[in-house]
Amino acid sequence: MKYVQPELPYDAAALAPAISEETVRFHYGKHEKTYIDNLNALIKDTHFESLSLEEIICESDGALFNNASQAWNHIFYFFSLSPDGGGEPGGDLRRAIDRDFGSFEKFKEDFVKAGTGLFGSGWVWLAADSDGKLFIQADSNAGNPMTSGLTPLLTFDVWEHAYYLDYQNRRADALNALWNIVDWDVVESRY
Ligand code: MN
Repeated sequence: MKYVQPELPYDAAALAPAISEETVRFHYGKHEKTYIDNLNALIKDTHFESLSLEEIICESDGALFNNASQAWNHIFYFFSLSPDGGGEPGGDLRRAIDRDFGSFEKFKEDFVKAGTGLFGSGWVWLAADSDGKLFIQADSNAGNPMTSGLTPLLTFDVWEHAYYLDYQNRRADALNALWNIVDWDVVESRY
């Protein structure tokens, strides 16, 4: 077993009320664990065992891509959140958000609009190109902007399993609540 699911740096109940304890336990404890278990089973005794997870994501397709990318995306998502999060970004990232989206408020509005506008399951991303230009990108299913050469900075999971226990069909409410728990120090460190 190559990949081991990392322990979250906060209690399952710590993100409430934005995300309930029950959702963290199902989403990270069960959904994410399954992606990691499947990833380990799919790479066993193949040349993918010697690649990094990012290399697997960029070089695979089908079931291996889906499980590898979902394994990576969920760790990236949950480790971007903190019970001490919220507020606003600063530094170079904030300057780039103001430059490329007009304001932090406009960025949040566009980001949630992209997430609610994605039909079906997927992820909405803030990503940067090699010049530091920022992009909002919505990807279906297990998509990840690294496969098109962009650097992921922040993602919100828009699969129904991410919010249905707490928000039922209200995806926009679920996404807007996440602004209260984004750890901007972590996001800034990726830029
Ligand atoms: Mn998910």
